[in-house]
Amino acid sequence: MKTIGILGGMSAASTQIYYRELCNRTRQILGGLHSPELLIRSLDFARIEALQVSGKWEEAGEILNTEAKALERANADFIVLATNTMHKLAEQMMHGVSIPLLHIADATASRIKLEGLHSPGLMATAFTMEQSFYTDRLVAAGVTAIIPETRDRSETHRIIYEELCCDVVTKQSEEAYVAIAQRLVDRGADCLILGCTEVGMLLNQENVSVPVFDTTLIHCDVAIAMALDDQVPS
Ligand code: GLU
Repeated sequence: MKTIGILGGMSAASTQIYYRELCNRTRQILGGLHSPELLIRSLDFARIEALQVSGKWEEAGEILNTEAKALERANADFIVLATNTMHKLAEQMMHGVSIPLLHIADATASRIKLEGLHSPGLMATAFTMEQSFYTDRLVAAGVTAIIPETRDRSETHRIIYEELCCDVVTKQSEEAYVAIAQRLVDRGADCLILGCTEVGMLLNQENVSVPVFDTTLIHCDVAIAMALDDQVPS
């Protein structure tokens, strides 16, 4: 079994989901007392968020690069960066690192294409929805995202940072998210990307009318497939 190096804490709420899901998948596949070999480096998200808000991305990238190197030194076989937004800095993060990064947007785009879909709605942080680093990556993989209108984008972003990252889940925000998702469907989305690792705390296949692609769950699926490469019974 390979060792997964998780760079998380962005937020801690979603890193807990990663740990639970990675453990569940390993148990489902290998049975018994099996659990994944992994390292979790969990950062203080307040420090990272302050850098995001002040536009100090270069500085945030240096932190990620230091931590990716630490995961490599600690013998991780590959890296899972447990946030969509910080993939903005993927290149800087992986500078001088020789183990691979399992890119969350690539894993998600492959899954969407496998289902024969091509126009996903994208609900994520404002950084992920409005800057090009993520949507361009999807386009390169053959998938064109539809992003929410301005007001829906700011509400989606607000709920992520003020509630979900603090582990706060409310019925009111669930209803707001369901309505935003439906407006994307009305504008032609044939599926929905939960493009922030906390959005699955409010949305799932039960409350969305089109196929849902939860980046956290997809990331975990692919990470386990990579980690168990040589052990999955055929
Ligand atoms: N976890 C989030 C994401 O997937 C947002 C927190 C962050 O900015 O890293 O984008």
